Amino acid sequence: MASNHKLSDTKRKEFDDHFKTVSDKLPACPKCKSKADVIPSVQGKPTSELQLYAAEGHVKLSGCCHRYNGWCKNCEQFI
Ligand SMILES: [Zn+2]
Repeated sequence: MASNHKLSDTKRKEFDDHFKTVSDKLPACPKCKSKADVIPSVQGKPTSELQLYAAEGHVKLSGCCHRYNGWCKNCEQFI
């Protein structure tokens, strides 16, 4: 199943490096009190590469109008 829409390792590394610093500053989830499942949330129109990265579960896209600190994968809610 070949696909042209695949995130390159180079780009993923770039995103990893960038969002690593973002993740470090994220607060713990107010509901489950854990940071373990909190990923960065990204506001605005994402690039196709960022969409692929989000599809892999590294970040959560929040759309154009809402701004959040992050997304808790455990509670499935923005925080
Ligand atoms: Zn939570």
